[in-house]
Amino acid sequence: MAPNLTLFRPRTAPESEYAPEPWPEIGETWKPEGVIVSTRFLGVAGAVVLVYTADAGVNGTYYAVACLGCSFRTRTKDDTNYISTEQAGGEIANAHAAQCRALPRDLPTRPDDDTAREIVRRRLHSERRSDYDVTVYLTSFHLDRLVLQRSTEWIEEELQRLADDQPEFLTARLRSYGSSTEFTILRFPKS
Ligand SMILES: [Zn+2]
Repeated sequence: MAPNLTLFRPRTAPESEYAPEPWPEIGETWKPEGVIVSTRFLGVAGAVVLVYTADAGVNGTYYAVACLGCSFRTRTKDDTNYISTEQAGGEIANAHAAQCRALPRDLPTRPDDDTAREIVRRRLHSERRSDYDVTVYLTSFHLDRLVLQRSTEWIEEELQRLADDQPEFLTARLRSYGSSTEFTILRFPKS
């Protein structure tokens, strides 16, 4: 950890100079809906870099890193491995913070439901393939969740709604274990 960087954690650190307003809907700072912010890093010009995770059910715990000042966001380490520990996320966030000169910006505004649905659809369509069906993992939405700001339940309901509306695109079936639903993006139809 580079000594000249400010690393602060919500529960143990004293108030920093950069104090964002509490999130209006739930009254807590740095807790947009559906997102669990674990660590925050401060960039050289004041932008905050977040390490966060989200409830992903049976998909396990994975982390993502996003800079609020610039467009940097990732859920992989070295472009291939998913970030499975807070520490690994912290290393990526710290490295970004050390060289990011973006000015601070607040969390994005919580989108309305139509916009949130569009974000979900866009993600699903980006995962669709022509030669095989794709299982939907809730972790696929990790990069979207800072903008999406919806609970895991909301995302699952939306997936179910899409599966009902567009069965040629998305299917739902109960898993053989537990009571959760598995969603599958069907491959592009052969024309
Ligand atoms: Zn940045």
